[in-house]
Amino acid sequence: MMEIDWKNLPFGYFKTDYNVRCYNRNGQWGVLEVSSSEYINLHMAATALHYGQEAFEGMKAFRGEDNKIRLFRWEENAKRMQRSAQGVMMAEVPTELFKEAIFKVVKLNAKYVPPFGLGASLYLRPLLIGSGPEVGVKPSSEYLFMVFVGPVGPYFKEGFNPVELQVIGDYDRAAPNGTGHIKVGGNYAASLRALDRGKKEGYASVIFRSSADRDYIDEAGPANFFAIKGNSYITPDSHSVLPSITNMSLRQIATDMGMKIELRSVAVDELGDFDEVGACGTAAVISPIRKIVDRQTGKTYQYCKDGKAGPMSTKLYNKLRAIQEGRDADTYNWNTIVE
Ligand SMILES: *Cc1c(COP(=O)(O)O)cnc(C)c1O
Repeated sequence: MMEIDWKNLPFGYFKTDYNVRCYNRNGQWGVLEVSSSEYINLHMAATALHYGQEAFEGMKAFRGEDNKIRLFRWEENAKRMQRSAQGVMMAEVPTELFKEAIFKVVKLNAKYVPPFGLGASLYLRPLLIGSGPEVGVKPSSEYLFMVFVGPVGPYFKEGFNPVELQVIGDYDRAAPNGTGHIKVGGNYAASLRALDRGKKEGYASVIFRSSADRDYIDEAGPANFFAIKGNSYITPDSHSVLPSITNMSLRQIATDMGMKIELRSVAVDELGDFDEVGACGTAAVISPIRKIVDRQTGKTYQYCKDGKAGPMSTKLYNKLRAIQEGRDADTYNWNTIVE
């Protein structure tokens, strides 16, 4: 194996040795197959390609100081993928099959799990697609579930350093009663133009306004938005926001720290009232935000006066990372050791 420069890993695709696959044909899941090919042989009329029958997950495995590999809250990813499958009428991957697949693929690629202490991890990408041919608009009669993995560095090259975001209201990633609450590729396709423009205009990501009325904060690009105000942890409650497992975990940690949780509509107008703001998700855990510019009004909101992440965001981040790496007590049994 080539030497891996663990310290300078990007957040991107990295070829490893194996992936795992399983087909559902006529309502029945087959056996889990191990593959060393990076390619799939797909029918050109597959519903994933034409009608967006596709869902994915993103999760991480961490190596602890004890050298053990830990998977963080994988059952939540399994459940979410089942909800995504229901949402776009695909065969659901049973929790047992999901578990077998992710543990097998991590074990087979154990040498690619980065060493402890570098902020790097093994990223897992479970994928479910309609693989059967249809030309009429209807669900596929065949599905492919697969999981590939790869070592990754921090999502934002800034690491746990504050980023600048832009609030926009002229693009929507999801409709009010659409698919924003499930992890399907279509939401990402719909967000690409907005993200690309935001990056060209100098921002790390964009914050979408609520698509129904435009008054509220929806998603922060591919992550959830949260704010700290006094002793409260505030995060949007919206049908078009993806229920983030990181956000759910941060709410539990915040509760344990004695904070009050406010899961509610969050108005863009409130941005001036917050002490700290951030984006959260598996990829970055927390990306602290130092500045938000409203693209329509030009209004600017500043945080992190000293240039560093705020104290509460820092505490939440450190605690979650410590649990994931086995440095702190795993009170809620969020980790499963891969043996
Ligand atoms: C995956 C995702 C998140 C983060 O969810 P986690 O479970 O914390 O990784 C947030 N928003 C969107 C749109 C996502 O796709």
